[in-house]
Amino acid sequence: MVIRILQSVHIIPITIPNSTKAPKKYGQRYVGSDSGALSGGVMGGRKGNPTLQNCNANLVARKAGGVVSSAMPPAPLQPGTLYLVATPIGNLEDITLRALRTLRECTIVAAEDTRRARQLMRAHDIDRPTLSCHKFNEAKRSGELLERLERGETIAMVSDAGTPGISDPGERIVRAVLAAGYRVEPVPGPCALAAALPASGLATAEFHFVGFLPHKSGARLRQLEALAEVPGTLCFYESPHRVVKFLGELDGLWPEAQVVLARELTKKFEEFLRGTPAELLAHYAERKPKGEFVALVQRAR
Ligand code: SAM
Repeated sequence: MVIRILQSVHIIPITIPNSTKAPKKYGQRYVGSDSGALSGGVMGGRKGNPTLQNCNANLVARKAGGVVSSAMPPAPLQPGTLYLVATPIGNLEDITLRALRTLRECTIVAAEDTRRARQLMRAHDIDRPTLSCHKFNEAKRSGELLERLERGETIAMVSDAGTPGISDPGERIVRAVLAAGYRVEPVPGPCALAAALPASGLATAEFHFVGFLPHKSGARLRQLEALAEVPGTLCFYESPHRVVKFLGELDGLWPEAQVVLARELTKKFEEFLRGTPAELLAHYAERKPKGEFVALVQRAR
């Protein structure tokens, strides 16, 4: 079936309520895309986050007004386990209760950027030691993390944003932990791919996640050409500096493709740009691409 919804570029700005003026107690805060830091202050404050308080209250089995909740208290963390904890990709509200509890109860947080992890934890009144764990020291860190698991520690691994191991450090450490016979447990949550694809309007039944293409033109083209026979929607992560180049490459290979650029997901300036590669190129002929992008491509059949 051919989906004919992408005849022109549609820019659908999404307004997130209260994003410019934060309510006193529970403000929207966003992760900055370029600064590498959490922007603004924190959500709520030490005791001032009513949403979290309510959720925690609901989680704990309790007796109130003669009604006994069927909810059970969550299981404690298991010694000798590596937890892969997903964190917000922009909107700081996008963190699960289990992610927060894991960060609160773990022995140590292995973080791609310890400063950023500490900012996130501070926002939720969490104080755990951190250990840097990024793509340049991932191999070296594996040994130390294994020793910790051997001692029965619980390690929460976080990347700068989203799900560790998805175009982020994690894969090597996970392999080392599994090979040594320890447990790896996902604590699922935000992921730019998972946010973009279902909202794109493109086919979701079958898709292929590519992540980042190489930087060099020849290698990029070779990889794109190799994807020609891969069925389903192709999903890429792309930087604002290369998105126009990417659209040009798509235009050369698949000019009829339906492309969705999901930009600044969950943030104040979130938008979905839909069109053929040429239509999107025309859009960016007039403005500079900014922010973070997921690019989704459905080729004509
Ligand atoms: N681990 C992350 C995840 O689970 O999605 C991905 C990390 S990867 C280093 C960063 C890339 O993911 C960005 O360059 C962009 O392509 C995509 N991305 C992350 N956050 C995004 C957002 N809020 N909106 C659009 N794309 C985003």
